[in-house]
Amino acid sequence: MKTRYMRNLLISFMTIVTVIIVGVFYNIKTIDIISQEVTGLYEHPYRVNSIVRDININLVSMHRYMKDVALATSKQDLLHATESVQSNENNVFLLLPLLYDKYLGNKEDIARFEKDFRAWKRIRQEVILLTQEKKYKQAAFITKNRGAKHLQMVIGDLKHLTSFADKKGEAYIQNIIDEKAATTELTLFLSAAALLIVIFIYLYILHDTQKKELKIQRYFDMIDANIFSLIFDNTGKIIEASSALAFFLGKTKKELLKMHIKDIVKDEEQLSVLMLCIADGFKWESELHFENDVYLYLRVAPTTEEDARLLYSMIIDDISDKKRIELLSNIDPLTGLYNRRFFDTIAPKELKQMARKKENAVFVMIDIDYFKLYNDHYGHPEGDATLQAVAYTLKKHLKRPHDYAFRLGGEEFGLLFSAEPLEELKLYLQALIESIENLHIRHAMSEVSEYVTISMGAVYVEATKIVDVDTIYLAADKLLYKAKHEGRNQLQIDVL
Ligand code: GH3
Ligand code: MG
Ligand code: MG
Repeated sequence: MKTRYMRNLLISFMTIVTVIIVGVFYNIKTIDIISQEVTGLYEHPYRVNSIVRDININLVSMHRYMKDVALATSKQDLLHATESVQSNENNVFLLLPLLYDKYLGNKEDIARFEKDFRAWKRIRQEVILLTQEKKYKQAAFITKNRGAKHLQMVIGDLKHLTSFADKKGEAYIQNIIDEKAATTELTLFLSAAALLIVIFIYLYILHDTQKKELKIQRYFDMIDANIFSLIFDNTGKIIEASSALAFFLGKTKKELLKMHIKDIVKDEEQLSVLMLCIADGFKWESELHFENDVYLYLRVAPTTEEDARLLYSMIIDDISDKKRIELLSNIDPLTGLYNRRFFDTIAPKELKQMARKKENAVFVMIDIDYFKLYNDHYGHPEGDATLQAVAYTLKKHLKRPHDYAFRLGGEEFGLLFSAEPLEELKLYLQALIESIENLHIRHAMSEVSEYVTISMGAVYVEATKIVDVDTIYLAADKLLYKAKHEGRNQLQIDVL
């Protein structure tokens, strides 16, 4: 998702950059063209006009000196006038190559001028000859008529050149105007295109982002409404919580956000393990038992940091129903003691645990004396009630978390727990036997007492020797048989 977003941004950025580069290059090109045009404008008509003007000055001057030639009365005057004409002519010939160089029109135009200009020399020669022969009137006549006419033609040739140069200048100006209009148009077009592309990409990204946000929002709502979850910081302060959790705990979200993680994990030992775990970056999970048989399964894991603050997520599962079913399937419905099935599951685990903790293990098998006769005499329902009374008494005597009482079958029970010293244990079990008799449940058919009694076979296993379930079961069963055989209502105990 992130890469697609980055790609879109890159594309839009590249597009704008491209448009700008194209625009800049085009403008530079146009400026270059305009500068060439301006140079051309300056160079061509200006230079042509100025050369033509210089030529014109020389031509006019030549014509004036030709009048002096025609009127020269002394040899001296004639020489002076002829030299002046020659100097002007030289000037014109010096200017001609420059004209050829700068003029951008047809060079034939200059050639025509050059030809006509050279042709003028023959008329001038004629005038000089007539003056030398002192035919002043004729000389003046030719100068005024043929000479002047020829000069007009030559000047006409030059005018043709300047008018071409002027036209060329106008064309340059028109070119600049056209170029400027085209550039303005293209710049406007490129700017509009860039703007449109930017708007399009912006709308696309906006639409895309909104779509993604909606999708995330949907996921969030789903989690918020259905998952019991919260987020807390490294001090244990709750900073986020789902509506589902608030509802489940019977609190408002606001109230939840004022709470601390210790308000949920109330057991101090568990809380300190949790805080140690997360401080080391580990996950933590545990089953917690609350009032009203509510069981929760908590899972804590580090999540993303915020403002350089480490945060942790907690997902909570309500496992009360599962726990209830589990307990039901492990419990004998008549007596409420754990059943044989649970004994098979828990006994190996507990023995292992005791071995690890180097505790001595005790397994006791209990059987009600003459119970068949009891049933036969008092009836089955009464028998059930007696089973319940015996079970209740057994349960009452086992108070520690890892003490277990089982109904192993019919009227047989089992006890499993870790033990005190052997002598104390004997006293304890003896007291238990007595407390059953002391229930004073009448048993008219018993041969050992007027009340219901029990027999016990117990094995005491030293920590270093703890063996498997079958071994202690068989040993206890044998001892129970011995207790029955030796008179019932008694304890037989052995150390393995
Ligand atoms: P002993 O002293 O040698 O143990 O004699 P006993 O009569 O108790 O011998 P046994 O173990 O053969 O008798 C077991 C009797 O327990 C058989 C049955 O009538 C009775 N019993 C087994 N399960 C139940 C039960 O769930 N409810 C009732 N009421 N009686 C049961
Ligand atoms: Mg029995
Ligand atoms: Mg019995």
